[in-house]
Amino acid sequence: MLDNKSLEWTRSLIKGYYQKATGIAPTNVEKREFGFGDFDKKIAYRHAAFRSAKELLDYLVKNVPPFVSYSSAYYQRPDGRPMETKGIMGAELVFDLDADDLKLDCKLEHGGKWVCSNCLDSVKEETVRLIEDFLIPDFGFKESDMGINFSGNRGYHVHVYGKEVFGLSGDARKNMSDYIAGNNIELTTFFPTLGMKGKRLEGPKPTDYGWGGKLANGVIKAINSGTSSLQELGIEKTEANLLIRKRAEVILGITTGNWDKVNIPKKGEFWGNVLKGISIGQSESIDKNVTNDLYHLIRMPNTLHGDTGLIAKTIGSIKELKAFDPMREAIAFKTGSLRVKIERAPKFAMGGKEYGPYDNTSEELPTYVAAYLVLKRLASVV
Ligand SMILES: [Zn+2]
Repeated sequence: MLDNKSLEWTRSLIKGYYQKATGIAPTNVEKREFGFGDFDKKIAYRHAAFRSAKELLDYLVKNVPPFVSYSSAYYQRPDGRPMETKGIMGAELVFDLDADDLKLDCKLEHGGKWVCSNCLDSVKEETVRLIEDFLIPDFGFKESDMGINFSGNRGYHVHVYGKEVFGLSGDARKNMSDYIAGNNIELTTFFPTLGMKGKRLEGPKPTDYGWGGKLANGVIKAINSGTSSLQELGIEKTEANLLIRKRAEVILGITTGNWDKVNIPKKGEFWGNVLKGISIGQSESIDKNVTNDLYHLIRMPNTLHGDTGLIAKTIGSIKELKAFDPMREAIAFKTGSLRVKIERAPKFAMGGKEYGPYDNTSEELPTYVAAYLVLKRLASVV
């Protein structure tokens, strides 16, 4: 819970942001459902609808919600309830990637609520992989069909627009997320001799389309990067060392479709595990809800995240995504400073400067740093 002083201060910051945030309304405002959160719950109230961008922005300035979500679905009656009365017309396709689902080692050090630069870099890397290894080559989406934005805290959202995706059913979306997660893939489709006694293991080549090529390329890349990369794919150290020792031969073999250059026991299970290692790391969260559920609400791009004070900022291109630093580029409250009482916080960088670690201290900090700590419930306004 935020104390009254902190609450009042952060509300005035949020109000100030929305007073200047013209042009943030999404396309087709009048067809979307909106949901709003308070400081305790990200969606406390939904089924809201607006007739125009202006009506939406007036609402934001007047009510100052810490979280704003919208539907990727378009409806005939977006405020209708129950859901069945809304009259769904179709939905954009959305992928939600969160560092929390990546099972990173740094999380053991800093806990689940904190986000470090390793968390942010890792989830960004996964987002780039989702786009460059799956959405573009395998599904044929174009960069111009996509919208990418920072989530405002510890992840990224990828929106796919256009009529190819608009009419997709929940089942079709589930098939897509299964494909990306590497679920239900029959290994024998690209290892035709798998399990046949006395037959050489024929397998995919790096030039093959889809998962076969991904597996071949992934293994070659990991072999070239060394033992730890192979272990990241779930390969035991003994086998990893064996693959490295016979590196040249194994790579040449895979390039020509011969996967029998090293003797590996339980080949099916082995390469199946490696395939899982190459799939997108947060595929569980993709699976869970966002992509498959047409009715899901997701943070509206360029609104604020009430746990950080950062902007769920739209990123213009894949190139910009690769260079994007949210702790610099998603800062909203750029002016002024404030003295806050900080309970405890690890070291972190914001706006190109380092702060902390803090332990029960009082500091005068730039507004955006103070707001970040206050909204993370690690500091309070004095
Ligand atoms: Zn971390």
